Amino acid sequence: MDYAFPLHIDWHCLCGDSAASHHTRSTGEECVGHCQKTPLDCRGFGYRPIDHTGRTPAIAAIFDMAGRLRLPRHYTCDLSTDYKMLIAPDAPTRFLWVARDSGTHLYPLDVPVAIDQGWSRDYIRTSLTYHERNHPEAQCFHWNGYTLDPVNWDTAKTLASIPAPVAV
Ligand SMILES: [Zn+2]
Ligand SMILES: [Zn+2]
Repeated sequence: MDYAFPLHIDWHCLCGDSAASHHTRSTGEECVGHCQKTPLDCRGFGYRPIDHTGRTPAIAAIFDMAGRLRLPRHYTCDLSTDYKMLIAPDAPTRFLWVARDSGTHLYPLDVPVAIDQGWSRDYIRTSLTYHERNHPEAQCFHWNGYTLDPVNWDTAKTLASIPAPVAV
């Protein structure tokens, strides 16, 4: 039962759009995503997934949990978003992670006070309440920097209310 399945992830393309935005046509490769008419425009190239070979303890824990829960079933591109956020040099060191049937959500908890802390904390609590009320299958986890632990909604909202240390 407690077994992690391999994941199918709809990785982002180098153009920034998900695989689902790309189509092969008789006239050539096209992308109907946001890259159109930008410097990243994918037209003519076709789907080119981002390098997704990197692992950090946090993204490895998320992929393991997603495999165990078999979530998300739809919008697996969200796992690619989680990957990009956690592989980045400025990756959050603590966060809440919500897995739903339709996608995932990652809420950094270490945003410095200087960066609109109040707004982001309110946003996180509002989002958590939304998931709790509308998505009975949703599960919430807390990454404390070392382990990914399941938390109930009240605990998650409390964690989202604790101010992050002021960056020095
Ligand atoms: Zn593309
Ligand atoms: Zn594109």
